[in-house]
Amino acid sequence: MPHSLEQSLQAALDERTATHRYRVRRLLESAQGPAVRVDGRDYLQFCSNDYLGLANHPRLIAAMQSAAAEYGVGSGASHLVSGHSHWHHELEERLAALTGRSRALLFSTGYMANLGIINALLGKGDHIFEDRLNHASLLDGGLLSGARFQRFAHNDIADLQRRLEKSGDEGRRLIAVDAVFSMDGDLAPLPELAAVAKQNNAWLMADDAHGFGVLGAHGAGSAEHFGLSQEELPVLMGTLGKALGCFGAFVAGSEVLIETLIQFARPYIYTTAMPPAVAAANLAALDVLAEEDWRRSQLQRNIQAFREGAARLGLPLASSDTAIQPLLVGADSDALAFSERLAGQGILVSAIRPPTVPEGTARLRITLSAAHSREQIDSLLNALEQCVGRGE
Ligand SMILES: *Cc1c(COP(=O)(O)O)cnc(C)c1O
Repeated sequence: MPHSLEQSLQAALDERTATHRYRVRRLLESAQGPAVRVDGRDYLQFCSNDYLGLANHPRLIAAMQSAAAEYGVGSGASHLVSGHSHWHHELEERLAALTGRSRALLFSTGYMANLGIINALLGKGDHIFEDRLNHASLLDGGLLSGARFQRFAHNDIADLQRRLEKSGDEGRRLIAVDAVFSMDGDLAPLPELAAVAKQNNAWLMADDAHGFGVLGAHGAGSAEHFGLSQEELPVLMGTLGKALGCFGAFVAGSEVLIETLIQFARPYIYTTAMPPAVAAANLAALDVLAEEDWRRSQLQRNIQAFREGAARLGLPLASSDTAIQPLLVGADSDALAFSERLAGQGILVSAIRPPTVPEGTARLRITLSAAHSREQIDSLLNALEQCVGRGE
C-alpha cells in the first residue's frame, strides 16, 4: 500500500524524536549578545558564533542604516547581472588585502561558497580528500561534484598521504578541511597539509569560518596565524556571519581562481547578490577589527578563564584553544538533558548530536565571545558544576 506524503514524513519525524535528535527552534526576542531574551525569558547565552561581539555593534548598525538609506534594501539581481554595487566591490578588495591574497570574491553564504568552489574546481575523474570532521557544506560540495570522494581520519596526515599516493596520476586533486573544526574547536595542521599537498601535486582548500576575524595578529584568520602564502594555501574561504557579526562569505586567492569562480561557480552565478547594506556593514566590521584589537585579546582571556575553571571542576573538556569549547557527553539523551537543565538555570548552551557529529560523541558546544564578562563565565561554570557535575 502506498503511503501518503503525511504518513511517510511523520514516520521519519517520529524516529527523530525517539532517538533524541528532534531539533526545535527557539524564538529570539532580542539582539545577539551575551544576554538574550528567548521565548519570553532572559538567558545568558554561550551558543552564538558572534565571537567578537560585533553583531550588535553600533558602528555596524549605523553603516547598514546609512547604506540602506542610500542604496535601498534589495540588491535586485545577481552579481553578474546588475547586483554588484561599489559596496560589494570595496568589500572584496578589503578582504583580499586583509588575507594577503590577490583577489577575493563574495558569496551569499558560506554553504554556497563551499558548494560553488568545489564544483567549479572538480568534476568526474578528479579526486577530493576531506577530513572526516569537515563541516556539512564541504562534505556536500564534495559529494555533489562527482569527483572521487574520500574522507581521511581527523587531522591524520599519514592517512591522507596514503590515500593521495593510492589515487593515481589522473585528474585534479583537492584537499579540503575546516581550518578550525566547527564542532570540536581544534585547528587543522595547515602547514603540514600544505606540504603534503605540494608533495603530491594536490591543491589545498581551507574553510576558515571559525578562524577568520579571530586568529592571526590582524584577525585575518588561520592563513595569517600559520603564515601561509597564497601559493601554499591557494583556496581560502571565510565567512562573514560569525566573528564579523554580519552575513555572507568570501573566497580569496589568485586572479585565475577568482575568475574561474565568477565563470563557473553556479551558487555564485545563479543567486541574488547580498544586499549592499550588508556589504557596508561588513566593511564597518573590518574597520572595527582593525581598530579594536582588544576584542581578540579579550576573547583569548575569556577562553583561558573558562578552560581553567572547567579543568578545576573536572569537566570533560576537549582540547581546544579556540572560542569553541565542546564538553563531550556521549549519549544524545544526556546531551539534551544537560542542555535543558542548563536552560532551567538561565544558561543557553546547545546540545550537538549526530548526524552533525559522529555517533556516540554528542556534546555541549559552548562558545565564548569577547563580549562575555568574567562574571558571566563564572555563572556558566557554576551552572555546569550543578548540571553536569564531574565528567567521566
Ligand atoms: C557556518 C559554517 C559554514 C557556513 O557558513 P554560512 O555563511 O553560515 O552559510 C561553512 N563552514 C563552516 C566550517 C561553518 O562553521
